[in-house]
Amino acid sequence: MGPGDRSTGLDDVTVAFGDGPPALRGVTLLAEPGEVLAVVGPSGCGKTTALRAVAGLETVRTGRVVVAGRDVTRVPTPRRDIVMVFQPGTLSPFLDVAVSLARAVEVRAAPRRRRSPGPAAFLLDEPLARLDAVERARTRRTIVDLVRQSGVSALYVTHDLTEAMAVGDRLAVLRDGEVVQIDTPRRLYECPIDTFVARFVSAPEIGLLPARLVSSPSGAGFRVGERTLPLWGPAPDGLDAGVRVVLGLRAEDVGESGPGADPGSVTVRVLVRHVELRGRDAVVTAEVDVAGEADGGRLVARVDPRTRLRPGDRAELAVDARRAHVFDVDGRALRHPPA
Ligand code: ATP
Repeated sequence: MGPGDRSTGLDDVTVAFGDGPPALRGVTLLAEPGEVLAVVGPSGCGKTTALRAVAGLETVRTGRVVVAGRDVTRVPTPRRDIVMVFQPGTLSPFLDVAVSLARAVEVRAAPRRRRSPGPAAFLLDEPLARLDAVERARTRRTIVDLVRQSGVSALYVTHDLTEAMAVGDRLAVLRDGEVVQIDTPRRLYECPIDTFVARFVSAPEIGLLPARLVSSPSGAGFRVGERTLPLWGPAPDGLDAGVRVVLGLRAEDVGESGPGADPGSVTVRVLVRHVELRGRDAVVTAEVDVAGEADGGRLVARVDPRTRLRPGDRAELAVDARRAHVFDVDGRALRHPPA
């Protein structure tokens, strides 16, 4: 890091418990002043360990821990200039979170003669876990305001993608103790590096559909069973006709076929598995029905809540293949649709 860097977090850090595999492997998570860096990932991926390492509650094998640019790798917890909110209490979680952070910020903003240095960073581990939906939304806005106004850095661990997207200036996605991708919520959503990240940042779930790239005089496309989904442009560079790929299609790019369907879409036969009503829309989860294929893939569609589709129905869904993310068979992204 260069001089003047005031970021907080982990710099190429490895943490291991006993002789087991490292819980964190070469992890770099650095939040800038006034930034919320949301840390997400499945259970056991190392989110809490990362925060505890910043706090000095876990021993770092290799790498550095920094708070506001200061190397605190060997500094004890009380002298790290951090405020931790781990597992808020039960009596008044909103007060626990918002007030403790606000107090910390007030100290920092107090007149110079009374001022103690104040915290440089907030470490928040599922701070809203015990709140109801309304308090959760209110508290997360309070946290974001406090971080912006005070210029502290915040590392914010959550399971909840919606919460991460709402609070995070950037999101870091962890898997098995490693950072898979770190970027703004929008970039992660538009350009997930692999199917793992694509699944993680998509709600409803992203549909994944095995397909084969085909090329004919009338243009390139993806062969799914007996249907060809036309491509939005030329075949992706470096991909030859016949190659197997996995298409990632978000629910907003899949709908019911019929008169209202997008004219650029193509129909795919499916077996409907679930229909979940969500208010403004309903989410249909379906297996793609490809003759002779055990696993034709899954599609998830966002449809009108008045849909007649029911679990067990054989139906057709309209797919906008121009919106497909293309992954190789190992799940690595090859191409994203234009934003
Ligand atoms: P969750 O979302 O379930 O809270 P997490 O992403 O926060 O999970 P961690 O709690 O950081 O994950 O755990 C990461 C890995 O390290 C897990 O495999 C866990 O079993 C292991 N681990 C964590 N703490 C210890 C410990 N004190 N001793 C041994 N192993 C540990």
